[in-house]
Amino acid sequence: MPDPEEFVVTPYEIKGKIDYGRLIEQFGTQELTPELLAKLHHLAGGELPPVLTRGIYYSHRDLGPLLDGYANGRPFFLYSGRGPSGPLHISHLLHFDLCLWFQKRLGVPMYIQITDDEKFWSRPTLSREETVHWGLENLVDLLALGFDPKRTHVFFDSKSIAAMYPLAVRVARKIPYSSVKAVFGLQPSANIGWVFFTALQTVPAFWPSWAEGRSVPCLIPCGVDQDPHFRLTRDIAEGLGYPKPALLHSKMVPGLLGEGVMSTTANRADDALFLNDPPREVERKLRNAFTGGRATVEEQRRLGAVPEICSIWALWRTRFAPSDREFEEITRTCRSGELLCGDCKAKLIERVHTFYDEHAAAREKAKSWAESAIVTAPPKAL
Ligand code: SF4
Repeated sequence: MPDPEEFVVTPYEIKGKIDYGRLIEQFGTQELTPELLAKLHHLAGGELPPVLTRGIYYSHRDLGPLLDGYANGRPFFLYSGRGPSGPLHISHLLHFDLCLWFQKRLGVPMYIQITDDEKFWSRPTLSREETVHWGLENLVDLLALGFDPKRTHVFFDSKSIAAMYPLAVRVARKIPYSSVKAVFGLQPSANIGWVFFTALQTVPAFWPSWAEGRSVPCLIPCGVDQDPHFRLTRDIAEGLGYPKPALLHSKMVPGLLGEGVMSTTANRADDALFLNDPPREVERKLRNAFTGGRATVEEQRRLGAVPEICSIWALWRTRFAPSDREFEEITRTCRSGELLCGDCKAKLIERVHTFYDEHAAAREKAKSWAESAIVTAPPKAL
């Protein structure tokens, strides 16, 4: 019998019920403490986004020194990325929402990496045309969240390779094959693209330091499953004369079916809310989503529901109830049985439709500058 306490978290596999406290010990990361959040609250002029106050980001590496540096006049930059295997779903927006908040509140630059090469290497069913197509589509979706064209730069791997390669070769020389093999559990049959990809994924973390010829700190908000990638980056940073990137880790967002995390890889289209889902499909998926409700209305009125296991509550918590007052009211009335799941879903469907309409309009604007944000030349000849 498998141990019910067992869980697996790697960049390519998530299994079991994750114990995030144990994961902090296993990965050797640090807890995101109230003191650290208070420091950020102060730097941001008295505001924090819900994803930080509601416990969705919970762990970090070296966030304290990064914030101290910022307070002393040493700005940092943000780095996040996307492997384009298909349309984005709602939980893909989590890290970009947080990056956008940082950019708006602290005025810091954002670097986005689109790894069309890695998705081609790791998904045998995808063609090059598909990974490039989805790379551009995903990029427009991300920029449409509201990033500032003057402060946002994109590494689209196959289009930016001339810019990235001079730094990638220096990075690659520092990473032993044995480290990549151990971190990612590569089998002998793995194609060699996987091996070099770690060097390319590291480039954006060092780029501003390389381009500006001085040490520029980096902050990477990511799912905790991506921590192993960036452990390798951190291991080699100082050997190349660059600062170790700081990391801010989120918990995984549950899927609509209530099992595991929201994912495009699990072949469960009904588990995720995709940004290109038409309105009727959004409604159908949310109506069928797993909740923490009871078997009958009478029971729910009497016993209340359980928000912590509900996929609808997870969407309110992460994105669709930005006001704390509204979120607390949803949670309270869910628990007390005053709010029924049908009504709660109807309200969320309306909220999601409004977001999709606004996002479609924002996409049109983002298309006008997406290509020009792609970095195509190195900062200097090497
Ligand atoms: S009332 Fe809403 S939050 Fe509570 S269990 Fe039902 S759907 Fe989930």
